[in-house]
Amino acid sequence: MQINHRAKKSLGQNFLQDANIARKIVDSLRISSEDSVIEIGPGQGALTKFILEAGPGSLTLIEKDRDLAPALEAEFPEAEVVQQDALKFRWEDLDPAKTWKIVGNLPYNVASKIMWDVAFKCRAMCVFMVQHEVGMRITADPGSKKYGAISVWVQSFCHTDYLFKVPPTVFRPQPKVDSAVIKFISLPENEKPVDIEGLAGLVKYCFQYRRKQLGKILKSFISDQVLEWAEKEGITLADRPEALSPLQFQGLYKCVKNDFPS
Ligand code: SAM
Repeated sequence: MQINHRAKKSLGQNFLQDANIARKIVDSLRISSEDSVIEIGPGQGALTKFILEAGPGSLTLIEKDRDLAPALEAEFPEAEVVQQDALKFRWEDLDPAKTWKIVGNLPYNVASKIMWDVAFKCRAMCVFMVQHEVGMRITADPGSKKYGAISVWVQSFCHTDYLFKVPPTVFRPQPKVDSAVIKFISLPENEKPVDIEGLAGLVKYCFQYRRKQLGKILKSFISDQVLEWAEKEGITLADRPEALSPLQFQGLYKCVKNDFPS
């Protein structure tokens, strides 16, 4: 994009300069004319031109930067540009009858919050570039050191996949750390948890004390129901929160929900 733009640190602006990586990210979404695509933080359009080349049914660009939004409108008249904070976007209002594909090289300072929201508020295939560490956490398996509240949360609603690593050298300005491209695909509606506010509270509460044993973390909530559930699942009260799979967190929440503040 031919605009004289000075990158803003406050908006996490690290612009991708490598066309091969941009194409690879867009290719992993397998866009067709049936798809409604949303790009979060298009910046100077590094991914945008490849998205349009893939021929989506529609493309919406959500960009918070007031200077970049008009430039994007001029450069990509086929797309709808929404100058807005993606954290305030109403993902739950997306038409469930359409096939949504959401993509973005996410601003590092709000990436986890955006993914937390997108994962449970809509049904979509998503490809995001994030800090490498965050990508590892989102896609981590239960039992691993990287597995935490955001892993449980996103994996409660989506299949997640780590696609590839990206070095700092392909951005201007260069970030200090590696990036990772990850993919989410929403689970079928009947496999998603329902009591989501309470579940979010339980997951965050447990991982606040991730080094403690479940028996200590949950001591005010232990009941016969919890003990029976733990035995059935092969969980002991000496286990730590990282031992529980997303489905096991849902099972545990069912046992404690009457006592647990939501
Ligand atoms: N997609 C471009 C690329 O790959 O070169 C830019 C990526 S840059 C890491 C992040 C982009 O997100 C910037 O354009 C920034 O202005 C935008 N952004 C930052 N915070 C945002 C927010 N809360 N909502 C929407 N866009 C945001």
